[in-house]
Amino acid sequence: MTRPRVVIAGAGFGGLTCARALKRAAVDVLIVDRNNYHLFTPLLYQVASALLDPGEIARPVRSLIRPLANADFKQAEVTGADLDGRRLLTDRGEIPYDYLVLATGSQSDYFGNASLARHAYGLKDLEEGLALRNRILSQFESSRWATDAEQRRVLLTFAVVGAGPTGVELAGSLVELIHLVLRKDYRDLDLGEVRVLLLEAAAAPLGTFVPTLREAARKSLEKKGVELMLGAKVESVDESSIKLVGGTQIAAGTVVWTAGVRASDLGQGLGIELGRQSRVKVEPTLQVPGHPAAFVIGDLAGASVEGATLPMLIPVAMQEGKQVAATIAELVRNGGAKVFRYKDPGIMATIGRNSAVAELGAVRLSGFAGWLMWLGVHLVNVISFRSRLIVLVNWAWDYLFYDRPVRLILRARDGGGDRTSQTGPMRG
Ligand SMILES: Cc1cc2nc3c(=O)[nH]c(=O)nc-3n(C[C@H](O)[C@H](O)[C@H](O)COP(=O)(O)OP(=O)(O)OC[C@H]3O[C@@H](n4cnc5c(N)ncnc54)[C@H](O)[C@@H]3O)c2cc1C
Repeated sequence: MTRPRVVIAGAGFGGLTCARALKRAAVDVLIVDRNNYHLFTPLLYQVASALLDPGEIARPVRSLIRPLANADFKQAEVTGADLDGRRLLTDRGEIPYDYLVLATGSQSDYFGNASLARHAYGLKDLEEGLALRNRILSQFESSRWATDAEQRRVLLTFAVVGAGPTGVELAGSLVELIHLVLRKDYRDLDLGEVRVLLLEAAAAPLGTFVPTLREAARKSLEKKGVELMLGAKVESVDESSIKLVGGTQIAAGTVVWTAGVRASDLGQGLGIELGRQSRVKVEPTLQVPGHPAAFVIGDLAGASVEGATLPMLIPVAMQEGKQVAATIAELVRNGGAKVFRYKDPGIMATIGRNSAVAELGAVRLSGFAGWLMWLGVHLVNVISFRSRLIVLVNWAWDYLFYDRPVRLILRARDGGGDRTSQTGPMRG
């Protein structure tokens, strides 16, 4: 007798957790992803700031599912889903399913601002992390050729837009890369010509944290040398400057956009109602309305608990993945679907060496205590034992010797064909 086939679109936190939780269920699982790896996003900013290499925060999906006897993987771009015909649509062909789990995550949202989409760097996937690392290091190399101070100022100004956790973590790590590491590489570097700006439209950084932790983060960022600009709304960006609403113009050669995120485009073709940030409105059981065999989880899902939409966070995606796996196992046994309940483990963000903020229920930590907590949680959760060891060694090396060994400017080039062309998929 053939077993029901569960097709999971997306090998991120939600999709992978779901596949793992189906390990003992009487189903066959097929995971489909455009990349052949699973990415540990919380440390992506450390790839961009030359502290970690990509291999330390990403693992091939095939190696992660090796212990799952009932799971397989296929690499493809998911283009849509035919929910009535029970088929997942991909650029490689259609995949029939008995149960479908859509977990394709989210993407940067530039809110229709063409100048931002064109000139700003994103930090959502590994390619963007590497492109940003190339850009930062290349700007320093280019600055050594610039004879004019104004030109150097443009090359050496890095503006991060959005003081949420990703923006705060990137700005903190970037300023430390410059002040503690690159300063030693470039002996004639005038630190007065280098700026790391963090622009935020709201009145404080880390808007989802309690006010005391926001204030602790603000102080720590400024102490490290980040120029925090609050109440700053970006109107447009070009290759050498940012224009703010109100007319202020800031010279900046590199702009990173972390201020907007929306669900993956997959939701838009489903013919289902979308909520804020284009997230798919799901039933309390995470089923697609009118299609009980289809589920949406993670960033793509706009699941709400007591009227509030759940945030785009890893614990949400993982808990939803687990719950959907349990529901599918139940449905296979002719049982019913249960309502999803979220257990909030808390939030944290690091500002750099010896400094982080953590809000874990009633427990609020900042400074060194917050940082130790952040280190522990992230180390435990890095993808594999091997990655954990390498990440720990890299962190210890950086901490003890003020050195980041992965300061390589790399450009990918397709193999075969015309090798005279130097253009690759990466900017920088
Ligand atoms: C830089 C950064 C830092 C973050 N830090 C934290 C943090 O510290 N803590 C926290 O809780 N959350 C953090 N987040 C948010 C967290 O990454 C997401 O909430 C979480 O990954 C959502 O899980 P998901 O399974 O929905 O999507 P993802 O984990 O993003 O997985 C989506 C998967 O779908 C694949 N995919 C997408 N579109 C397609 C397609 N069309 N075809 C095929 N495959 C596709 C992708 O390749 C990816 O593998 C961070 C996010 C970023 C970008």
